[in-house]
Amino acid sequence: TRHPMVGGLPITIEPVSEPLSDAVRRERMREPGFGRVFSEHMLTIRWTRDGGWQDASLHRYGPLVLDPATSALHYGQSVFEGFKVYRGADGSVAAFRPEANAERFRASSRRLCLPELPVDVFVDAVDLLVAHDHEWVPTAPGHTLYIRPLLFASEPELVVRPSEECLFVLTAFVAADYFPRGLTPVSVWVADHFVRAAPGGTGAAKCAANYAAGLAAQAEAAEHGCDQVVFLDAVERRWIEELGGMNLLFVYGGDVPRIVTPELTGTLLPGITRDSLLTIARDLGYAVEERRISVDEWEADVRSGAMTEAFACGTAAVLTPVGRVRRGDAQWTIGDGGTGPVTASLRERLLAVQTGAAPDPHGWLRRI
Ligand code: PMP
Repeated sequence: TRHPMVGGLPITIEPVSEPLSDAVRRERMREPGFGRVFSEHMLTIRWTRDGGWQDASLHRYGPLVLDPATSALHYGQSVFEGFKVYRGADGSVAAFRPEANAERFRASSRRLCLPELPVDVFVDAVDLLVAHDHEWVPTAPGHTLYIRPLLFASEPELVVRPSEECLFVLTAFVAADYFPRGLTPVSVWVADHFVRAAPGGTGAAKCAANYAAGLAAQAEAAEHGCDQVVFLDAVERRWIEELGGMNLLFVYGGDVPRIVTPELTGTLLPGITRDSLLTIARDLGYAVEERRISVDEWEADVRSGAMTEAFACGTAAVLTPVGRVRRGDAQWTIGDGGTGPVTASLRERLLAVQTGAAPDPHGWLRRI
């Protein structure tokens, strides 16, 4: 008999004995929302300081039993990832750049004093879960299987120090387009009082606490009739950083469009969609600049007509145009407030690569 492995780790595989019927599964997948409809299996790996990674297991999706003293629940020593598995037009199934997420997961773990899961274990675990749950990769246009790796301090002890025990949990859920209005442009609120990240802080890590800290700013944006928050740098409150869950890119029109995006200063999350779009922009012959850009510049360049488009990007929504910006009492509309041609071309090309409809010159798809 073959002993199944993830990376170099032995794993126990206990698939569900009676999978859901096709009819029930299809019904559940019809209106999935976001993070609500999970596939039938999950994969867990334990870690202890003395024993390292161990007890890898693939089994039925279900609740975790946690001691109330579980350290992560109190102190937030917890990181996660998110990326998508796409169904190609030919029915094939592929993950988009899982190795890049595995690397970012390690970087986030390092920042939070969590153990770094080896890239080959991460990627093999994804392959194994998706192989068992491949029928959960949707065929509906725009729908995908979203992969959610999580690593948290599971030690039931409340001393404030790096946990001696951790749990890696890999789950997958069916995701519809994140923004219910699809490609309709979003409006954004510039946060002048709340900050997301400060130099030396955790802004570049995908850790649980960053998202909790952003909720109040998101609520403020909603109070002002905006869909999303734009966070500024913590020091001068002048430089544009990102949204609560997406990076921002700006387009200066002209014969050769120019894409400008805030550089990775350590206070924003290095988005993999951001990186992919900058690469595609270069492939399409656009100019690309990673540099600081201020809110004042944003307003002035939109008003002068130099900046013609702006969009947000991230795994969940892929690429979403920004139509309107509000900062205090000031407000400006980008272009005609609709979806510009450069935004549309980048979105189309990225989605075509992700679904296997266009060539994949950078080897981003991992077929499963
Ligand atoms: N910024 C933040 C704060 C995010 O949470 C995300 C989503 N992971 C992004 C940017 C976009 O990253 P990615 O393109 O890798 O999804």
